[in-house]
Amino acid sequence: MNEIKEKLMRYMDAGFPILYINTFEEDKVDSIIEDIVKDSEIYEWNESKGYIDFKNKTEVIEDCDIDMMLDVFSTRELLDRKVVILKDIAYYLEDNKIASKIKWIARLINDGVDATVIIVSSRVVIPQELEKYITIIEMDYISRDEIKRIISNFISESGMSGISEDFLNELSLSLKGLTEFEIENLLALSYADDGQLDRNDLGLIFDQKQQMIRKAGILEMIPLKETIKDIGGLENLKKWLSRKSIVFKNYDKAEEFGVAMPKGVLIAGVPGCGKSLNAKAAASLFEVPLLRMDMGRLMGKYVGESEGNLRKAIALAEAISPCILWIDELEKAFAGISGGNEVTSRLFGNFLTWMQEKTSSTFVVATANNITKLPPELLRKGRFDEIFYVDLPNDREREKIFRIHIAKRRPMDVDSIDLNELVKNTSGFSGADIEGVVKDAVENVFSDGKDKVTTQDIVEAIQNTHSLSEIMKEELDNMRKDYESRRFKSAS
Ligand code: ATP
Repeated sequence: MNEIKEKLMRYMDAGFPILYINTFEEDKVDSIIEDIVKDSEIYEWNESKGYIDFKNKTEVIEDCDIDMMLDVFSTRELLDRKVVILKDIAYYLEDNKIASKIKWIARLINDGVDATVIIVSSRVVIPQELEKYITIIEMDYISRDEIKRIISNFISESGMSGISEDFLNELSLSLKGLTEFEIENLLALSYADDGQLDRNDLGLIFDQKQQMIRKAGILEMIPLKETIKDIGGLENLKKWLSRKSIVFKNYDKAEEFGVAMPKGVLIAGVPGCGKSLNAKAAASLFEVPLLRMDMGRLMGKYVGESEGNLRKAIALAEAISPCILWIDELEKAFAGISGGNEVTSRLFGNFLTWMQEKTSSTFVVATANNITKLPPELLRKGRFDEIFYVDLPNDREREKIFRIHIAKRRPMDVDSIDLNELVKNTSGFSGADIEGVVKDAVENVFSDGKDKVTTQDIVEAIQNTHSLSEIMKEELDNMRKDYESRRFKSAS
């Protein structure tokens, strides 16, 4: 909260013409502005009331549209010593006429008029002609201590008996990454069902938080079902993750000992061989939420929107931290940057800087099928703690993967199945192929009205499957050669 106050003051003093505060917490922004603006008159425009006095919001100066409101401030004299707050205007910014009127005001300010335009909106829309006049400010997420204070206030206001220190810690952690408004709503909701706050409410809070994150639209909170036990093989990678989890979970002690905060891992390689599975299992191992970043959704159509989205995603992940930020299909976002796409290069630069400087407990797991097109800067030491490549499973790994998937569906049949026979028949199969084979065999046995899955049933399903290496042999060979020449660590 104080950080954003300071930022706003600094920008206003320095004469930045348009500050764009990206938030839906209008009340909070109002109180900050009221706090810091001392010597200027403040006016506001919003869709429902029009042109109003900022402090006394019921005082409507004129019930006019945004177009007319902007005319009011179109001369040096009228604009001097004014702070103009614009709300609900993301939609109007797409209109050339409005954008050009705002630009006119911005130019007056750049020309020495003492004034500031502040746009408050939950959506960032920056028309190209305003790009160089606008500075985006993200609202800071609140700290764990502040969350604790909100919980304590809530408890005393509702007259509830206190909660234990342990539970207060747990509750505040589960509410991290939410705004003050959302936290208050969730506490009220949790309290309303049975008149108390207890561990039973954590499930509800998790569900609601998942929804809120989904609504923000850039990150998805993935429910954790998989553990390290669901992964057959990939022993090196699993061991590495287990060791990192020790540091991550005991970071206070580790830091005191001189250990740096783990940054993250890049897992590259053959499709269907457990990369995503490892991202999910890592979150279970680290005992933190898993947030998936969808690179496709990050790319916006307005100038600065993609960077804004990346900043938002990173800020949200850091606010929720400790967490794992899973960047799926990394190559989709950053491949071919050398091709000169300006937005992707800028996005990439921002991401690199963040990875380089990151000290928060946000552990990045990036997964990619093909990294040959990724820019070399990303693969340099210091960005990720390690880069692993995942190949098709070898004989021993295939045996383990078969065991896992058969045991999941038919635990009673595992011991009577000849796993060696299955391994012999599946050279070149991926983990996903094996899962598919087991699924097919189980379904066929059921449809045939039999009550037991046998080795022969699975062999038949194998014979009806085209393995991954059959389908993309050449690509896999090239990929393998490339990984070996780069000396990435093998996950197996
Ligand atoms: P893609 O690049 O296509 O996203 P991926 O490498 O991320 O593939 P996963 O999504 O992890 O592949 O694997 C797909 C499915 O295959 C998993 O849900 C899992 O059931 C099975 N699978 C793959 N590898 C393994 C493995 N090593 N052990 C157990 N199951 C596996």
